[in-house]
Amino acid sequence: MSKMGNQEEKRRSYLWAALHMKCPRCRRGNIFENKSSYYLKNLLGMHRNCPVCGQRTELEPGFYYGTAYVSYSLTVAFSAFTFVAWWVLFGFSTEDNRFFWWLGINGFLMLVLQPFLMRLSRSLWLSFFVSYNESWMAENEDKKNV
Ligand SMILES: [Zn+2]
Repeated sequence: MSKMGNQEEKRRSYLWAALHMKCPRCRRGNIFENKSSYYLKNLLGMHRNCPVCGQRTELEPGFYYGTAYVSYSLTVAFSAFTFVAWWVLFGFSTEDNRFFWWLGINGFLMLVLQPFLMRLSRSLWLSFFVSYNESWMAENEDKKNV
């Protein structure tokens, strides 16, 4: 493989693929029909199969019910992060309402980020069950030749 190719593969790390809503098997195809997280009409519309490698995106009926756990964890992690950031930047005190400002702003951010988090949860969930397959292209060729 050429040097360029290697760098390209490195860029497509596990986290990169999950954050960019790419198929976890080939890390190339988009799993959602719309690229934008804010096209709310079709927020969770997914391709049945990865448009690049053909990986199924719904492994079994009701597969995405489990995303509730992921989205809950993301919510907790995100709130913990803003809590610490707020603590460092502004601090907390019992003598004023700084805590409630954090609560309000955190809540607002959660709301704004919700569409993105919902999609990210699905992307992560799928990536827990489908692992990256370096030779997806070759394997797809084999299937075609049978
Ligand atoms: Zn794929």
